[in-house]
Amino acid sequence: MTGTYLGMPSFPRAADASTRDHRLRANLRRATHTIRAKRDRAVAELDDWVQLRAAGAAVKDRTLRHLDHYLVQLEESVTRAGGTVHWAADAAEANRIVTGLVLATGEREVVKVKSMATQETGLNGALAAAGIRAYETDLAELIVQLGDDLPSHILVPAIHRNRAEIRDIFRRRMAEWGLPAPEGLTDRPADLAEAARLHLREKFLRAKVAVSGANFAVAETGTLVVVESEGNGRMCLTLPETLISVVGIEKVVPTWRDLEIFLQLLPRSSTAERMNPYTSMWTGTTDGDGPRAFHLVLLDNGRTDTLADTTGRQALRCIRCSACLNVCPVYERAGGHAYGSPYPGPIGAVLTPQLRGLASPLEESLPYASSLCGACFEACPVAIDIPEVLVHLRERVVEGGTVTLRGTRTVIKPAKRHATERTVMRAAGWAFDHPRVLRRGQRLLARTRGLHPGRLPGPGRAWSDARDLPEVPPESFRDWWARTRGGSGRKGEPS
Ligand code: SF4
Repeated sequence: MTGTYLGMPSFPRAADASTRDHRLRANLRRATHTIRAKRDRAVAELDDWVQLRAAGAAVKDRTLRHLDHYLVQLEESVTRAGGTVHWAADAAEANRIVTGLVLATGEREVVKVKSMATQETGLNGALAAAGIRAYETDLAELIVQLGDDLPSHILVPAIHRNRAEIRDIFRRRMAEWGLPAPEGLTDRPADLAEAARLHLREKFLRAKVAVSGANFAVAETGTLVVVESEGNGRMCLTLPETLISVVGIEKVVPTWRDLEIFLQLLPRSSTAERMNPYTSMWTGTTDGDGPRAFHLVLLDNGRTDTLADTTGRQALRCIRCSACLNVCPVYERAGGHAYGSPYPGPIGAVLTPQLRGLASPLEESLPYASSLCGACFEACPVAIDIPEVLVHLRERVVEGGTVTLRGTRTVIKPAKRHATERTVMRAAGWAFDHPRVLRRGQRLLARTRGLHPGRLPGPGRAWSDARDLPEVPPESFRDWWARTRGGSGRKGEPS
């Protein structure tokens, strides 16, 4: 791993390598199956889960429909509470704003609490280029950072590492980043956690600037919310003098009553807990308590384009619980890195191509990174119909058409590599529109069934090499029905 998502190969190429990694597959299988079983039990405890899920989806949909209104309300509330709001159209602008804010404090170090938005923008690299060192403080993010690695899961970014690997990373790298690992560190979870705690405490006590994300931003009061399990986030949010929060514009919820729904949906879906061990909320600044300066950077970076697509926009409901990853048979085998973005698994397969546009073979391949089994839809606490969006995006890849890119309506060309599929589908569509031709074709196929090859020639060979071609029946259903009237054996009489 190189510590960057730039230049990642298409999903099939990346997955080809990762599916051969037996240790990775074993780590993933063990972790996802454990979380998924616990989550099922936590969800089953609630009689009104179905209603909660529907309420979560409805609140998100309504908020997205009136996003312009709620974002302006959020800005007014944050400003009134003593914070400063910045608007970032894309990753480069967000990084420029944050780097400028840090440099203005005179500091050259920041502590970070897990923020997917800054993973998306590649903030750590931009800070490093400006001579600022960013320390990740979430335990799993720390493991990823020390290992020069990339996150591979939304909730457990180091899910692909086992305990022995983590111990080796700590022993090898901690000294370069601060307090070294204790002598004779073992791979017992308690020992690993203690090593991370000692290493991070030094950072928390020294840091003057923190960068965070947020799970939610409440428009009516300007309150930001971070939920977590370790308490590291709370240290980041309260100890430093300056707090900079980088938040996607879709994270806004209108009111505290709306927030209540998500504070029930999120913990059960993500960590299988009834409530998060740490729920930290902050509203602007308060004299003598917490950071003295608070900046909120609201990040678009493709979200407005996504909003313009009435089918695809449901991906913006996502509350990053990771339940869809933990039930996905493709994610379980391919691992998170194959998705080439901080958003792996089913949600990554629909979110990344929309946020970035179908910009490269990677984004074009992601809508195909699914068996369409529907397990992700079943698990999603805000009822995102991921299979529907996947099929919608596949259509866009194959057919091209009108989309919104960087705020402008534009027509994208159909992908070249899908020419055969497109031709076959068009021919099939034409045949289904002409029943007589279809009937003659079916009869011809039935009469010549003894001559059919076992494998397809030309470009279809790769497909048929891995599958049995379906056998053509001796007569079509239509002919069978006309002959037997549904099995009665009497032509022309109802059975
Ligand atoms: S798509 Fe749904 S299940 Fe997947 S991370 Fe988002 S909210 Fe959770």
